Amino acid sequence: MQFYSHDLYYATSGMDRRSPDRVNEEKIKTALMSNRARFVILSDSENLFELIEGQHHPISFSYCEIADYLDHHPWAFLGMYEETPLFVVDLSELENQVILDGFSQEVAFEDLRRAGPLQQRAQASQMAYARGLMFWHQRHQYCGACGAPTKMTHGGHVRKCTNSECGLEHFPRTDPAVIMLITHGDHCLLGHHSRLKDGMYSTLAGFVEPGETLEDAVRREVFEEAGIRVGKVSYAASQPWPFPTSLMIGFYGEAETTKISFEDDELEDAQWFSRDDLKNFGDQGKRLPSHDSIARSLIEHWIKAA
Ligand SMILES: [Zn+2]
Repeated sequence: MQFYSHDLYYATSGMDRRSPDRVNEEKIKTALMSNRARFVILSDSENLFELIEGQHHPISFSYCEIADYLDHHPWAFLGMYEETPLFVVDLSELENQVILDGFSQEVAFEDLRRAGPLQQRAQASQMAYARGLMFWHQRHQYCGACGAPTKMTHGGHVRKCTNSECGLEHFPRTDPAVIMLITHGDHCLLGHHSRLKDGMYSTLAGFVEPGETLEDAVRREVFEEAGIRVGKVSYAASQPWPFPTSLMIGFYGEAETTKISFEDDELEDAQWFSRDDLKNFGDQGKRLPSHDSIARSLIEHWIKAA
C-alpha cells in the first residue's frame, strides 16, 4: 500500500531547488536583489509568523525590507517557488525583541512543530526546509576533521573548512528514520511513548543505524520496542521531518507474532487495535497522532484499505 509522499506536510515538492545555481554567485546575488525575491526569517530554529487576531500566519519579506540584515547574518537560497526566488535569513544572533520591533507588522517567533499543522502545506514545507537547513549551519560551525571554523558557501548549502590545509566541504545532514504501521489481519500495532501527549497512540519508529537496511531497521525497532517479530515489510511513502534533521521513511510491516512484550524502555504501552477501535478512538480517551505526521497518514490509509 503505497501513497504519494508529495501529499504529506513538509514535503517541498513544489519547490525548484535550482541546485546548479548555487555555485554561481552572480546568479544568486541577482535573485537575492530582485523585486520578486521573498525572505523568511528564523531565530534559534523558530520561524517568524505574522500574528493576526492571535493566530500565526506565514510571513515573508522583500529584499528592501530585509537588506540591512543580509550583510551580518547567515542567509541561504532555498530555491524557486512559482517564479519567486525564496531565501531564509537566520537572525539568531539578535535579541528577539530587537527583531520584532524592526517590523511594522505584528510578528512573533513560534516553533513550527506547534504552528505548522495550522498552515497551508506549501508554506509549512518552505518553513520546515528553511528551519532544517539553518539548524544544520548552527551545529556545523567547526570542521569535524580538523576543528577549524567552517564558512557558508554554495548559496548556503555547503560549509567549507577555512583551514587551507584541510579545506573539507561539509554538506547538510539528513538522518534516515523508519516509521512503520505493523499489522496483523484487521488489527494494527500502536504504542504510547512518554514523550507523546496523554492518550496518544502512534506508529513505532526509530533511526536507521550504519550498515543496516531500512527493512532490517523496521524489524529491529519493532522487536526491541514491542517484542513483535515482523516478516514482510513494504514501502509506503516518505516525509521530510526537519525537527531537527530527520527523513521519515514509512512502511507497512506484517506481524508474524502477536504477543507484546517490552524489550526496552522506549514505550509505556502498546496494543493491537482493530479498524473499528480506531474509528471510535476518542470514545476510549485515546487519540491518533497529529494530522501533519506520516504516522497519521499510515494509519488512515490502512483504515481506508479495508
Ligand atoms: Zn578542516
